[in-house]
Amino acid sequence: MRRRFIGDIVCSDMGKDIPTKQDLLKAQTDLLWAADSGKLDSLDCPSCHRQTVSVWFTHPKPDIYREWFVCSSCSFSFRAQISGIPKHYSESRINQKLQEYDVDLLAKIKF
Ligand SMILES: [Zn+2]
Repeated sequence: MRRRFIGDIVCSDMGKDIPTKQDLLKAQTDLLWAADSGKLDSLDCPSCHRQTVSVWFTHPKPDIYREWFVCSSCSFSFRAQISGIPKHYSESRINQKLQEYDVDLLAKIKF
């Protein structure tokens, strides 16, 4: 696996139906597979169970790409760091808000 997860899954308003850590890990794997196969919209959300997760990319540095999975119905999101260019990367899929967040985050890390 050439990806690693950075940061925890964000899902603060899950209501009664709280997924277990195992469920979330499985959901992450499923979402990553879906993204790899080219499905970038209408993915299953493990939190609100709607098909409202979309894949976004950020490119905060010339050699750094990140893949984000964001639900539009609830607060579920997570991101994966990619080594190399994501398979279905396109500039039209860059989310400006997330891009700024990642650029800002990287600026704070001292190498
Ligand atoms: Zn959701």
